[in-house]
Parts: sequence; C-alpha cells; structure tokens
Amino acid sequence: MYRLAIGDFELTSISDGTYRLDGGAFFGVVPKTLWSKKVSSDNENRVTTGLNSIVVRTGEKTLLIETGIGNKLPEKMAEIYGQPARLLDNLQSAGISPEDIDVVINSHLHFDHCGWNTVKGNGGLKPTFPRARYYVQEGEFRHAHEKQRDSISYLHENYDSLLESGKIELVRGNREIFPGIFLEVFPGHTRDMQAIIVCSGGKSACYISDLIPTSAHLDLNWVMAFDLYPLETIDSRKRYYSRAIPEGWLTMFTHDPRVPWSCLEQDERGKLALKPPAVGIS
Ligand SMILES: [Zn+2]
Repeated sequence: MYRLAIGDFELTSISDGTYRLDGGAFFGVVPKTLWSKKVSSDNENRVTTGLNSIVVRTGEKTLLIETGIGNKLPEKMAEIYGQPARLLDNLQSAGISPEDIDVVINSHLHFDHCGWNTVKGNGGLKPTFPRARYYVQEGEFRHAHEKQRDSISYLHENYDSLLESGKIELVRGNREIFPGIFLEVFPGHTRDMQAIIVCSGGKSACYISDLIPTSAHLDLNWVMAFDLYPLETIDSRKRYYSRAIPEGWLTMFTHDPRVPWSCLEQDERGKLALKPPAVGIS
C-alpha cells in the first residue's frame, strides 16, 4: 500500500494481488530478448502481473478506481490466471470498508478490472460496495455484449445486475463527474477504454489503465497483443505523453506488480523513463 497527496486529494494504492499473463501476449510484437531484460518469466513464459486499484479521497467523496479480478472467476479461468482476491482485505488494512466507497470507476470491463464490482450473496449477485454509484463508458458496456475477439475477457456477472438495479451510470465520452475527477477516453486497448484523471491544487494524476499497463510498457511501440486497435494505442499514448510529461502528471500503472505510480520523463532522443522518486511522493 502506498499513499500520497495530489493537492487536497489523498490517493492510496491498494492491490488485489498478482496474477499470471503470457509474456508474449503482454508485450505483443516486442521480441523476448528485449522484454526479458525488464521483466522475468517462469518456465511457461508467464509474467507476474499486478492488480492495482486506487482509492481517492477528495474530502467530500471516496472513490475507488478499478476493482481487480474479484473472487468469482469460473474455475477454468482461476486455474489459468490465479485468483488472489486480496482487494477487500487490503482495503481493510488501509482502514477502508466497502461501505465507505461512494463511487466506483471502471476503466473498462475486462474481467481483471471489474471483478470486485459484485459478489455472490444468498439471494444472488449483489454490489460489493453497497452505497456506490458505478461509472462505466456506455460504448464499453455495449462492446462487452458484442461477439468480438476479446469476448472471453468479459464476465457479465461483474456488471449486468448493477445496470439492472440502477447502480451503473453509463457515461458517453469525456466528462468531469465531480470537481477535479475527469473521465477521458483513450482508444486502443478497447475502443472506449477510459482513463481517470484526478486534479487538485494544480497537480494531476492519471490512472491510464491498459493504455500503459506497466512501467515496462512506456515505449510508444511496446503495445500488448491484447489491444484491439494497436495503432490507436500508439496515437493515444502520444496524446497522453504530450500532456502528462510537460505538466508533470503522476501516472498510475494498473498492472505493474512493483510500481503503482510514477512521474515520467523523456530525454532528447525521445526515450521515456520513470522520473524518480517512483513511489510515495507527495
Ligand atoms: Zn483490458
């Protein structure tokens, strides 16, 4: 768990644990001889992948960005990926109960980003965060129900019941949902994946989600094979860096098992790097 301040807002990084992804899929067309210098893999070529959520306390609202894998994966998927299910315990260790959460934001609806949206109870599925309003892009919700290449990554029990009970607000495009909390669409990983930008006191932090999943994916061309629109990922990254670097934004990494957030820098040759200190700054 790491905590820092962005102006008047307090950010806490909370993990749902780590899981395993195929290293080849994680780094797309990048040769293993290159990515293996940054990230190690096991004998089945799998890399350890983080599940980082962020709690933002604005003073008026408590927001939870992303809800990890959760605890109700089908058996086969749990076998493949693992199902650490640490989020609620780690929230508790940070002094946060599910009832404290006013707002949940999902960057998109792949199973490893919205798993704790719901839990199974006696009477069926119920919201894990009983008071929360959930924010999802309308286009992403629609895409989740289409037959597409990434259909296998969508588990409808993570969101359908929330829509039926009126808990989900479907957002169309970019919007400031509360003062200083902005949703902004960055296409590439999916068409409607949204980043969450948090601004207070002249400082900004951005949960850029699967557009730049870890600190090993900073290079414009190190695009995951999972991405539906890889060329748009590159364009979206250019757009992101053109603001995040000159304005000194803190970038939050959804799948980095070691670095939940860092500022970024770019040298004269265009090479991107973390700008230390990578964690715990205020
Ligand atoms: Zn995804």
